[in-house]
Amino acid sequence: MPDRPTVVEVVPAASGLGMSDGVATVREEIVRVAQLLRARGLAIGTSGNVGARLADGRIAITPATMDYDDITADDIVIVEADGSPSEGHRQPSSELRIHVEIFGARPDVGGIVHSHSPYATAYAAARREVPAVHYVLALLVGPGRDTLRVAPYATFGTVELARSAVATLGSDNALLLANHGAIAVAGSLATALGRAERVEELAMLAWRAEHLGGATVLDAEELDRVRDQMDRFPGQRPAESF
Ligand SMILES: [Zn+2]
Repeated sequence: MPDRPTVVEVVPAASGLGMSDGVATVREEIVRVAQLLRARGLAIGTSGNVGARLADGRIAITPATMDYDDITADDIVIVEADGSPSEGHRQPSSELRIHVEIFGARPDVGGIVHSHSPYATAYAAARREVPAVHYVLALLVGPGRDTLRVAPYATFGTVELARSAVATLGSDNALLLANHGAIAVAGSLATALGRAERVEELAMLAWRAEHLGGATVLDAEELDRVRDQMDRFPGQRPAESF
């Protein structure tokens, strides 16, 4: 496999948007992140979606069934915090409810990236949690946790799936959706994209390690130490500083 950094949450250079940015800026950021999903191999066709919380509490989200290559800022849909329509001439993503439920449950979250990235979705199809085959899992789960969890299956676009996702997410920063895909959350959209990439990377590594006889996994205590170490070397997690 290519030699590349695995610790750093790699994010676009111009990233850093948070909850206080203007609507027009957030619309542009969503388009950019959605197109990067495709460019980085995390999205096939129109699968996945990208959402951000606006400063006034409303939610900006990618439209339903539009090719990411064709999306412009004008196509981004704005809804109220409860998901009811606010601005925009498109239909919001069919997974709007997931965004509504997660933003409602997690005031620390400003950006959500949902993907059907291949390795992560393979684990989701097998309904297998991704174990700590690499210490970057420390970026994705909360203290005391050592696997990436899988939310129980529910039909796409339903309230049941949204509730299943938010219950499984808890205080983690990522999860898998059974027979569906993955979700990554963060304070900013750019960091959420970086975490979505880490999810895919972990699933890919877990898959490959299985073919070498199985990984020796890290436990929750070690992941706690990893987080402490990342705090000592903040340059190792630049995406966390936005
Ligand atoms: Zn989906």
